[in-house]
Amino acid sequence: MKAFRGEILSVPEDPAVAGPGAIRHFEDGLLVVEDGLVLACGPYADLAGTFAEAEAELQGGLIVPGFVDAHVHYPQIECIASHGEQLMQWLERHIFPAEKAFADRGHADAVAAFFLDELLRHGTTSALVFATVHMGSVDALFEAALQRDMRIVSGKVLMDLGPEGLRDTVASGRAETEALIARWRGRGRLGYAVTPRFAPTSSDEQLADAGSLIAAHPDVLMHTHLSENPGEIAFVAERFPEAADYLDVYDRFGLVGPRSVFAHCVHMSDRALSRMAEAGSGIAFCPTSNMFLGSGLFDLAQADRHGVGLGIGTDIGAGTTLSVLHTLGEAYRTCQLRGASLDPFRALHFATAGGARVIGIADRVGALLPGQEADFIVLDSGATPLLARRCAGAPLHDRLFALQVLGDDRAIAGTYLRGRRV
Ligand SMILES: [Zn+2]
Repeated sequence: MKAFRGEILSVPEDPAVAGPGAIRHFEDGLLVVEDGLVLACGPYADLAGTFAEAEAELQGGLIVPGFVDAHVHYPQIECIASHGEQLMQWLERHIFPAEKAFADRGHADAVAAFFLDELLRHGTTSALVFATVHMGSVDALFEAALQRDMRIVSGKVLMDLGPEGLRDTVASGRAETEALIARWRGRGRLGYAVTPRFAPTSSDEQLADAGSLIAAHPDVLMHTHLSENPGEIAFVAERFPEAADYLDVYDRFGLVGPRSVFAHCVHMSDRALSRMAEAGSGIAFCPTSNMFLGSGLFDLAQADRHGVGLGIGTDIGAGTTLSVLHTLGEAYRTCQLRGASLDPFRALHFATAGGARVIGIADRVGALLPGQEADFIVLDSGATPLLARRCAGAPLHDRLFALQVLGDDRAIAGTYLRGRRV
């Protein structure tokens, strides 16, 4: 048994829905961990007697649940900051050539190790991750995640209409997906996601087959992109004139359900959002990526009107940082440009328990509730001279917001997986 004493904050429910009671804050708190699971979390004064035998490690910063990155591409990490294109041209010019290199397993292993170590250094303990079309790219990521004991969900990308060298077939896509699910099911803290890249790169037959894979495996997610960039949306509308909208394309192939995660959703009709809410599908909001590619501004107020679940994605390599903390600052700016506001506690919820719910792991991580895995981080509001000056004597709300606006990997003082510091 281990215990961690310090200021503790978690936001298990969305405060905009559940009210201020959703915020769990213990100024002098105690987090008790046994066998990697949270045994208790509450005020030190209440718990100290019961857990007197657990020697408490004193933490100087703010303990919060580890971040959940709800949408990121590990094979694109070396393409971050590629200049000058909108989505479709950026894919052709920068991304597809880089993804072809993942046919080489040694390359995939090296990038997967670097990527996961960077996630941990940025305070991200769980993620829903795109690999490439190559089966070995998933094996590389899962092996590296297993070694590090991280909760990672990923899957082989399905793209039978992809460019030369990055193309599977309906049959090979299905066979490799089935083989990967069988190989990795139940191992470590890993999960599988059936992953059609997006509608433009899969045939109707492959999209239908992805739907049948989801139906056949109730323990896997569906992960793809939706309504990101005007050029992409026009392409989809032209190819599928019979569909009501972009979401409806996926819906017709059985890809819209409670285990579906759609990255972006920048340009959405009320019909589509209402259908997502009804189906229980989730959104990965990727503000740095949307601004970098000039895709547009996600409309949180519109998503709220329909009650669609939301997580935060860094979306490397169109995203510009692996820091979920920094991404929350960008999410705030996106909302401001839409004439809305984003409360820092709500932002933290999206980056932890909210994202965990969207990617189907909320029973395991995200809120530091008893029985959950003890994945947490320590935030240092004195990480830079400016942060320290802004936060000195400030109330929690202001410190948390300053961390989101001014913070990044420098503010991550420690990352813990199942109570073990990494
Ligand atoms: Zn993406």
